[in-house]
Amino acid sequence: MTELERKQDRAPIPADWTYASAPESRDIVELRERYGHFVGGEWLEPKETYTTIDPASEEPLAEVGQATEAEVQLAVGAARDAFENGWSALPGSERAKYLFRIARVLQERSREFAVLESLNGGKPIRESRDVDLPLAAAHFFYYAGWADKLEYAFPNRKPRPLGVAGQVIPWNFPLLMLAWKIAPALAAGNTVVLKPAETTPLTALQFCDVLRQAELPPGVVNIVTGDGRTGAAIVKGEVDKVAFTGSTEVGKAIRRELAGTGKKLTLELGGKAANVIFDDAALDQAVEGIVNGIYFNQGHVCCAGSRLLVQESVYEDVIDKLKRRLTTLRVGDPLDKNTDVGAINSRQQLEKIQELVASGEEEGASIYQPPCRLPEKGYWFVPTVFTDVAQSYRIAQEEIFGPVLSVLTFRTPDEAVEKANNTPYGLSAGVWTEKGSRILSMAQRLRAGVVWANTYNRFDPSSPFGGYKESGFGREGGLHGLEPYLRFE
Ligand code: NDP
Repeated sequence: MTELERKQDRAPIPADWTYASAPESRDIVELRERYGHFVGGEWLEPKETYTTIDPASEEPLAEVGQATEAEVQLAVGAARDAFENGWSALPGSERAKYLFRIARVLQERSREFAVLESLNGGKPIRESRDVDLPLAAAHFFYYAGWADKLEYAFPNRKPRPLGVAGQVIPWNFPLLMLAWKIAPALAAGNTVVLKPAETTPLTALQFCDVLRQAELPPGVVNIVTGDGRTGAAIVKGEVDKVAFTGSTEVGKAIRRELAGTGKKLTLELGGKAANVIFDDAALDQAVEGIVNGIYFNQGHVCCAGSRLLVQESVYEDVIDKLKRRLTTLRVGDPLDKNTDVGAINSRQQLEKIQELVASGEEEGASIYQPPCRLPEKGYWFVPTVFTDVAQSYRIAQEEIFGPVLSVLTFRTPDEAVEKANNTPYGLSAGVWTEKGSRILSMAQRLRAGVVWANTYNRFDPSSPFGGYKESGFGREGGLHGLEPYLRFE
């Protein structure tokens, strides 16, 4: 404040509201040049490797292994040994100690992991720091609490672990999905072979260091990296349970592969969620919910609110507010603490988004994109809104998995329910209204595993998450998330 302003007793008025960049330092992350597979508590030198990159700059980050079938078999063998020779017989309270340790180490190293997650995946540091990391640690804390209480969780059912769990996860929440998979599996007394997605292996590989710090017995968690072939080898391997999160297409292939094998399976697949705005909703809050629903993590979210259903009487108002809000979103460097929308995860995903957006324009929808300067290198897509969308358009039916919103309208609650349920998916939905009774009635009628009311994209380890129809089956989180890792005598 200048002397003159202080004398006049007035607050200074900045001439320009442009944000200065506030980049998070990369120095906290120590990357190795080359990573192997983590098998039996040791690093296994890989036969084949590939390069993993930073999608925001296309800069190579490290060489990682492309696990062959033989390497996957070694990992499954190590997991089997660990299961039979100690882990499954440990008292639950002992297993809990390891899970608590993992949770604490993750908390202690959260800044390092957040930076690495943003570097390898392209998501804004604000999100990896404030959402992915706290939730990943919370999952380990939560399931640590259940490890010695399984008999109370499932009274008179004699819960027993299954054996080796094969887990295949996607690239949109690499560390968080790892936590969703590993924490309940270990709490229930199983051992694990996990494969992160091809484009985002680094936080899973760094996590092996956390396992060592926590002194987890060798072989209880094994991490192999590689593309879909490695995932397929895990599914075919001598595992007792498969847990998969990813596309509906691959989920269906896995289900076909496992039919008749007796292996247990849970699938968390795609979505095309409806976010329903009634005319009595607090519209400014709803607009924040719409933005959080579809532009969070560049829309790379299976439960993203990618179809907006707005009641006709408030349509103009909502669209005006939404467009104005879009002009304030900052797209760019994922490591900048001001960034709202980061990089698209891969060239392949960018091409998929571009193709679907082009189809929306061809089919006749009106497109809106705020003025926005994108970085020259890396993979980027401007936050996009489509209006004048018919239910039959591909952008209203298919999962785009990018920052692209399709807007439809409705007049009555019945019409909203009919349109919201008019999808092959059934993972999540949102309802915005001031009436509690309407929230309850909508939640009952929407065929979705999760229904958020006056909020969106909120997660808690104690709350089960999962889908209906082509969004898969089985639940993760809460007590429901333990059950798929247990058999009952
Ligand atoms: P995938 O379903 O191919 O990938 C998910 C995981 O499965 C990855 O680890 C992948 O390895 C692995 N995988 C691929 N093929 C097989 C196989 N045959 N057997 C076992 N595992 C396999 O999704 P994509 O990454 O290809 O994304 C495509 C689309 O899927 C996205 O555009 C989006 O619409 C949807 N998707 C949905 C997600 C969700 O959370 N529901 C998450 C990710 C994608 P690799 O990384 O090498 O491909």
